[in-house]
Amino acid sequence: MTFDAEAKMQFVYAIRSKGVTDAKVLTAMENVDRAEFVKGIFRDRAYEDMPLPISCGQTISQPSIVGIMTQALDLQPRDKVLEVGTGSGYQAAILARLARRVYTVDRYKRLVDEAEAIFAKLKITNITARTADGSHGQTEQSPFDKILVTAASEDPPSTLMAQLRVGGIMVLPVGQSDAVQCLIRVTRTEKGFDYDELRSVRFVPLLEGLGTD
Ligand code: SAH
Repeated sequence: MTFDAEAKMQFVYAIRSKGVTDAKVLTAMENVDRAEFVKGIFRDRAYEDMPLPISCGQTISQPSIVGIMTQALDLQPRDKVLEVGTGSGYQAAILARLARRVYTVDRYKRLVDEAEAIFAKLKITNITARTADGSHGQTEQSPFDKILVTAASEDPPSTLMAQLRVGGIMVLPVGQSDAVQCLIRVTRTEKGFDYDELRSVRFVPLLEGLGTD
């Protein structure tokens, strides 16, 4: 299956019907072929609105959730963004179309290596991927305009909150890893932080340290 006009139309229609209405986000998603980030037998299902397995026992998120999270970040062309949880690299590739620079980290070196190979193939040059425990953020690049966490923690990691600039936005799932979690948006203000609950979601857990795969 190819990401032709027909496939794109159906893909975007499904995402839009789940609440992704921002035209810039929809255009970005129409311009990144999700099949590039999915391997083997699951490739045929790349344009369905469902999460799919990737290497290291992880998952590429459901496209509509990628859209909802991206939309909630309210990305601006000059933004410097941190993504925690590179996974397949798909979400980072979407962010990279809407922001100036994307720093993405995953605890599995194998996932980072595979994602970097796809970024190179697709000639995406504004993503820096690193193998690291992303719950510590990336001090040397902080503060960030936007932070996206694509793995669930019980509370927003305070280190990441500290790396958000005033006016910046962080979107992340919070809650127990084996239960339904809540996607929240944290906005840093002059005085502190504002919190909005967006919807219920299910993500793999944010784990400490590096993966061994
Ligand atoms: N955004 C990805 C999906 C991420 S799945 C995509 O578009 O495909 C969640 C990812 O978070 C997994 O790859 C997992 O290895 C990673 N992860 C979990 N805990 C982490 C941590 N502490 N630091 C960095 N990455 C982490």
